[in-house]
Amino acid sequence: MKIISILFNNIVLVITLVIGGYYTFSSLEYEPRVVFMDVGQGDAILMIDENGHKILIDGGDGDYIVNIIPDYLHPRDRKINTLILTHPHQDHLSGLIDIVERYEVEQILFYPVCYDSELYNYFLGIEEEIKPIQSDYEYIGEAFDLELLYPLEDSTLDDFKVYSNINNASIVTRLVSEKGTMIFMGDAEHEQENVLLQEYSGFEMNSDILKAGHHCSRTASGRKFLKQVDPKYAICCVGEDNRFGHPHDEVIEKFEEFDIEYDLLYKTGDIVFKF
Ligand SMILES: [Zn+2]
Repeated sequence: MKIISILFNNIVLVITLVIGGYYTFSSLEYEPRVVFMDVGQGDAILMIDENGHKILIDGGDGDYIVNIIPDYLHPRDRKINTLILTHPHQDHLSGLIDIVERYEVEQILFYPVCYDSELYNYFLGIEEEIKPIQSDYEYIGEAFDLELLYPLEDSTLDDFKVYSNINNASIVTRLVSEKGTMIFMGDAEHEQENVLLQEYSGFEMNSDILKAGHHCSRTASGRKFLKQVDPKYAICCVGEDNRFGHPHDEVIEKFEEFDIEYDLLYKTGDIVFKF
């Protein structure tokens, strides 16, 4: 586990501790934090605000997450306020289903896109809580706000969008706090990066920390995009020896070229940002 205190004006990342272990909380109060969970080849990012409000972006594949998430929650706390599914690929969706089954989830937000899989069909059957994310979505919190950068348009459950590559339909969000900013790219690739570049100014995309798109595949993290976001630190959510060869050398070389520090999640274990 890597714990990083975010003191970032000029960021940097003071690494205070590298250990594996448990968190214990004496009450239902929480220290605000963002946790990149080491779920193998997949994404799962938990945000906890000062008031205990929890947002989980993706759930990784398999049962990693249900084993990891209790480390960050008070034992009596069974509530997750918002789940966000960036897109319906298994390495983002599978673990979310387990969370829905074991926790009290207030709402599940997703972008309705056409994709044929048993898992996605099952997900779509979770009727009570799932809602299409609307373009005006934002969470205004105490320690941080979370804003939506993609999708750009509203959608309904009667109108599933067609994408030739659903990675490029990833829900993209950006966390803004007094101490810094983070952008969460899901599996967005160059095509979606270009859409974002057209839509947003540098100021709107600029982020101290980049959750790099598509597990640091060469299909994501283009030069123009990196220039615009201008991160100081990037995280590759990758599993060891994954069959895709992620992270690709080209991406790591670009991080080095742009002077972006980076970590591979399977090497660090969970990465915890404390505010
Ligand atoms: Zn993925």
